[in-house]
Amino acid sequence: MSTVPPSPIVVRPRSAALAHTAAGDARARPTAPAWPVAAVQALLDLPFPDLLLRAQQVHREHFDPNAIQLSTLLSIKTGGCSEDCAYCSQSSHHGADLKASKLLEVEEVVEAARAAKQAGAGRFCMGAAWRSPQERHFAALTQMVREVKALGLETCMTLGMLEPAQAQALKDAGLDYYNHNLDTDPEYYGRIITTRVYQDRLDTLRNVRDAGIKVCCGGILGMGESRRHRAGLIAQLANLDPYPESVPINQLVPIEGTPLANTPPLDPIEFIRTIAVARITMPRAMVRLSAGREQMGDAAQALAFLAGANSIFYGDRLLTTGNAQTQHDRDLLERLGMHAEDVSPQA
Ligand code: SF4
Repeated sequence: MSTVPPSPIVVRPRSAALAHTAAGDARARPTAPAWPVAAVQALLDLPFPDLLLRAQQVHREHFDPNAIQLSTLLSIKTGGCSEDCAYCSQSSHHGADLKASKLLEVEEVVEAARAAKQAGAGRFCMGAAWRSPQERHFAALTQMVREVKALGLETCMTLGMLEPAQAQALKDAGLDYYNHNLDTDPEYYGRIITTRVYQDRLDTLRNVRDAGIKVCCGGILGMGESRRHRAGLIAQLANLDPYPESVPINQLVPIEGTPLANTPPLDPIEFIRTIAVARITMPRAMVRLSAGREQMGDAAQALAFLAGANSIFYGDRLLTTGNAQTQHDRDLLERLGMHAEDVSPQA
């Protein structure tokens, strides 16, 4: 029997973390998750046209379906990371050909942000290859946030794991979003990363949320995981309470020298399916096409927009992997009759 919620789409209420028993028992106990893995997998299993139609219906309820948000990502500190993420060229555990660099100067970052704004970006994301930031970096990091924000851009950072006080310092500087991806399903996680556990990721997400910073959190597809694992990742994201405001969905870009260098490519239809399910289960989130966009081709990107993706990373580089060319992006949006703009959820 199908476990897919019936059409038309009814957005499931967010489950309260705790509920009281009908008998008035004051002791609280957890409720069922808003999206059980089986329900997410049932969506992934739908016939492709049915799935895309449902995703479009949800998308149109909350967003201008023809608008795409442009974000620019700058690597503010590259390489030499002590974590061992199997997909990442920046890990010091792997043999990828990448030159490590120190934290950029504030002026360099602000100059890049100014250029991104002139090129049409609405959000500027700053990424550092760290397990977690050091206290000595915070003066520069918070200054970057203040100065980029003063340009009229939304700010986002990804710096690794954060303690509550670190999250609060970034919030006090005006940080809008913090990116911290769950990467994959909890059951598959140990195949990809061994230097931290899933709960570490969840703890940082909680610290970010508690500080009042919006959450950007997604994952990577095509790392050899099964459809069931993809359902598990989406369920984890959709069951965060509240779910992330931004959900980047990456496609693995296999990099020479990393353990995943020879991973067979994911079927593009499977990638689009996952985008559609992210849209259905997280109706008001910005679903962002991230790494791997360059490899997808224009037709697959168009399908991803149809499936509910409404944000892209825009600019010539995506941390250390290539990103689709800026002009090509503009041409593609024009060919599709779409436009770049702030696509925050409609009230
Ligand atoms: S993904 Fe981030 S945490 Fe993992 S190795 Fe790369 S830079 Fe480090």
